[in-house]
Amino acid sequence: MSLPNPAARTRDIIFYDAGKPIEEVERELGISGSTKLASNENPLGPSPRAVETLKGALEGLNRYPDGSGYYLKQALAERSGLTPAHFTLGNGTNEVLENIGKAFLDPGDQVVLADAAFIVFHIVAQLCQAERAVVPLKDYVHDLEEMADRITPRTKMVFVANPNNPTGTAVGRERLKTFLDSVPSRVIVVLDEAYAHYPTMPDYPDGLEALRDFPNLFVLRTFSKVYGLAGVRVGFGAGHPDCVRAVEKLREPFNVNSMALAAALSALDDSEHVEKSRRLNAEGLEFLYGRLKELGVAYVPSQANFLLVEVGDGVEVFEKLLREGVIVRPVKGYGLPSHIRVTVGLPEENERFIDALARVLGR
Ligand code: PMP
Repeated sequence: MSLPNPAARTRDIIFYDAGKPIEEVERELGISGSTKLASNENPLGPSPRAVETLKGALEGLNRYPDGSGYYLKQALAERSGLTPAHFTLGNGTNEVLENIGKAFLDPGDQVVLADAAFIVFHIVAQLCQAERAVVPLKDYVHDLEEMADRITPRTKMVFVANPNNPTGTAVGRERLKTFLDSVPSRVIVVLDEAYAHYPTMPDYPDGLEALRDFPNLFVLRTFSKVYGLAGVRVGFGAGHPDCVRAVEKLREPFNVNSMALAAALSALDDSEHVEKSRRLNAEGLEFLYGRLKELGVAYVPSQANFLLVEVGDGVEVFEKLLREGVIVRPVKGYGLPSHIRVTVGLPEENERFIDALARVLGR
């Protein structure tokens, strides 16, 4: 029996390694009670307001979701001073990224992105058969000046995550503005702000504000992180209404399910959960910094809810930590073979990580 051949262009597409569910890791290693600090999830759990809403939303599951996401877009518009027409929703920000790629990238177009950028940027470029101009990070930070220099007449899109995953670094307001000023208006800048609630730097820029001055900008945010809703899958993109219309044409008709729409709407109002999550994260980072310094282990100071830690052989340390019941993320695939990425957890989870790391590194 012969199977159909996949399209040749799928051959080289990077596989998004999402990491294994906790149950699978435990089954494979014959362990239990492990701590997952691998996917930058909210350790406090989902927004309690969203959970309450979800219970009520179950009754309506026989109906299709509101395909336009009317109420969520309305709420996003009210909070940002933009209009509902500025927003497109997705089954996670991942889908929004893909929809933007599909709407604007033709085969042979060029996209500019960093080497250790969020891997989905690379995958979207590949899916759309765009050519990648890859710019190395400079001291773990986006080299925006070099990225602007790499723009050619063939460049259609530039991807920047701020803060960046997996480095946790962010660029400030002035630097971002200078960069946006230098990008020709025919080039789309995708500014991914999945971790926008976490930065503590005073000059962290608000991409949604920048939208007013830059009609070629798309700003992406997610409900997967600070709102704790990674499991329901919902994120959004904001851009000039003309650009958004193009993306809306290409998305699936009911791409965001009704549970996700309801949960996101309630989570937006849950400022208590957001504040608690941010505070816990800032305290967790301070704890990790202190303990890593004591251990003599280098790290990249973070503006996000995770930390890039230099451990020698990242894959080996990842595997040894697994056997200690602590799941982190190796980042060799991002060109960072000496590092692991660890999500900031609850205080006891952070302690467990540090104790396990100390044992694994023999310190
Ligand atoms: N952008 C960045 C920079 C991320 O790190 C992530 C999550 N890994 C996403 C987007 C995707 O988030 P979502 O769950 O909304 O698809």
